[in-house]
Amino acid sequence: MRTLREITDLKDKKVLLRVDFDIPVSDGGQIEEAFRIKKQKETLDYLVNQGAKVVMVAHVSDESVGQSFTALLPQLHLLLGYEVNFLKTLPEVGSYMEHYAGPALLDNIRQNAGEKENDPEFAKKLAAGFDIYVNNDFAVCHRNHASVSAITKVLPSYAGFLIEEEVAKLQGVIDAPKNGKVLIMGGAKASTKIPVIKNFLSKADKILVGGVIANDILKAKGQDVGDSVVDENASELLAGLDLNNSQLAMPKDYNISQNNILDIGPEAIKEFSEIIKNSKIIIWNGPMGMFEDDKFADGTNKIAQAITESSAAKIVGGGDTVSAIDKIGLMDKFDFVSTGGGAMLSFLAGEKLPGLEALSYYDNK
Ligand code: ADP
Ligand code: MG
Repeated sequence: MRTLREITDLKDKKVLLRVDFDIPVSDGGQIEEAFRIKKQKETLDYLVNQGAKVVMVAHVSDESVGQSFTALLPQLHLLLGYEVNFLKTLPEVGSYMEHYAGPALLDNIRQNAGEKENDPEFAKKLAAGFDIYVNNDFAVCHRNHASVSAITKVLPSYAGFLIEEEVAKLQGVIDAPKNGKVLIMGGAKASTKIPVIKNFLSKADKILVGGVIANDILKAKGQDVGDSVVDENASELLAGLDLNNSQLAMPKDYNISQNNILDIGPEAIKEFSEIIKNSKIIIWNGPMGMFEDDKFADGTNKIAQAITESSAAKIVGGGDTVSAIDKIGLMDKFDFVSTGGGAMLSFLAGEKLPGLEALSYYDNK
């Protein structure tokens, strides 16, 4: 993978920078999880300090802000430490670059037809006037979108510091010795999580399961899960996985309410905590229960607590998992908090990510 460090002279280079500003926004319009934005600063500041002319592109999916950055700009400026110029539409980019006046941000790239389709013609339009493309949005790397993939065919392309760090940390987890390695998998969306479990069966000592994923496995084992939330296609996804494998640790008990499994139970918390205590490296994705309701947050909170108390290397990721640990103030107790949800899971499942592949095959002259 080509990285930003390889570029020797950035002075006056026109850089198209793909950033991750796709943050959840509260009802009051407040940015939640500012860490994703702060994580962009190192690369942005580096480019600016080296004298590059930078236009950032990003997507924002939160409906409450109309999928536009307009209402978020004052908060973005505070988080970045300076104001950026705002370009509403793609045609404004060309004229801006002729009278460049500091780093700029183009509004939601997904407003453009062709972005999600990975349209090469759109990528050409996006690239016009730029010398270099830098991707610093790890969380979008599992998407085959124009500002992630097709763009790399028309501009010399490099990974920013964040992608470099994400790949190094997550590859480090995959490569770490099996002895003492624990994967904790919860939350929902079996299609993204079961492939990780499958990939880690040969790579981890223990896989602790909770959340809807545990419900899915219980059901696949033929047990009655009542009215619990399950994934429709879990049984197909679980095919080929030995559900009685001793590495796969299912919760011993559950917190059940109105015929619904909504959290792991106290015995499970105790057993999981003991395994966590004796581990060397922990990778965690997915809440153990419906943590948004305090009545079902115990599993998630106590597992988070156990992880932070262990001497193991601690890696965590996933939108909801990160907000759960942020809510109880444990975020800075982790060695690495991934900005990737789907992208992290895809990477850990051993899949090829279009955005990362694109950075390695461009013939850069
Ligand atoms: P992440 O974003 O960290 O990858 P997911 O999006 O996969 O996590 O899953 C988080 C969601 O799963 C939360 O909204 C949580 O309420 C829900 N959840 C976890 N366990 C259960 C359960 N037993 N029943 C219903 N929902 C659950
Ligand atoms: Mg989620």
